[in-house]
Amino acid sequence: MAQTKILVVEDEPSLIEVLTYNLQREGYEVIVAKEGREGLRKAQMRLPDLIILDLMLPGMSGLDICRELRASPRTAKLPIIMLTAKAEETDQVVGFAVGADDYVTKPFSVKVLMQRIKVLLRRAANPELESDIIEAGGIKIDKRGHEVSVHGERVQLTPTEFRLLETMMRQVGRAFTRHDLMESAVGDTIVLERTIDVHIKALRRKLGVAGQRIETVRGIGYRFQAERKGN
Ligand code: CA
Repeated sequence: MAQTKILVVEDEPSLIEVLTYNLQREGYEVIVAKEGREGLRKAQMRLPDLIILDLMLPGMSGLDICRELRASPRTAKLPIIMLTAKAEETDQVVGFAVGADDYVTKPFSVKVLMQRIKVLLRRAANPELESDIIEAGGIKIDKRGHEVSVHGERVQLTPTEFRLLETMMRQVGRAFTRHDLMESAVGDTIVLERTIDVHIKALRRKLGVAGQRIETVRGIGYRFQAERKGN
């Protein structure tokens, strides 16, 4: 079996070293690009199984690379994990808008990054196996049966509420903008972004105590938290 190839696009030498060491130790083949355009070229030519993409790069930004890759059918589905710095919080949201699959904030735990890589690779290898059952924070979604329960009690949701909850629960902890939610959860229905607030409000009410898992992220939108702070 061919080795899983991971492209690391990062300009910080110490980080390249840490990533290369750890990725190789996990058995991955590592390709490195230290500059934006080089990163894009290597992604297009080598077609890696996954890309670890720094946001701030010389030559071409991570966002632009992401955009280019998503625009071409050959590279549109490449799993991308964006590396961002804490100060770039809003850029993380932008990163998702142009299609990064996940992000980690620097400084990050290598262990966490390796876990995220495994999850993304598994998902990419078995898109049809994307779990029908999602559970977090006492809430259980059964996609096939279109059922939601909170601590075992059935809850009736509208299709839009269901998709909003599913979208957020598939990426616990990720902050979604209203626009993200509109696109991924509401799909082709034409709604105003403020309508999202109305759906979220209804969703929280129906989930009862578990509705507190849906947190408002000031200035951004919403996120699902599996563990409540202080618990
Ligand atoms: Ca950088």
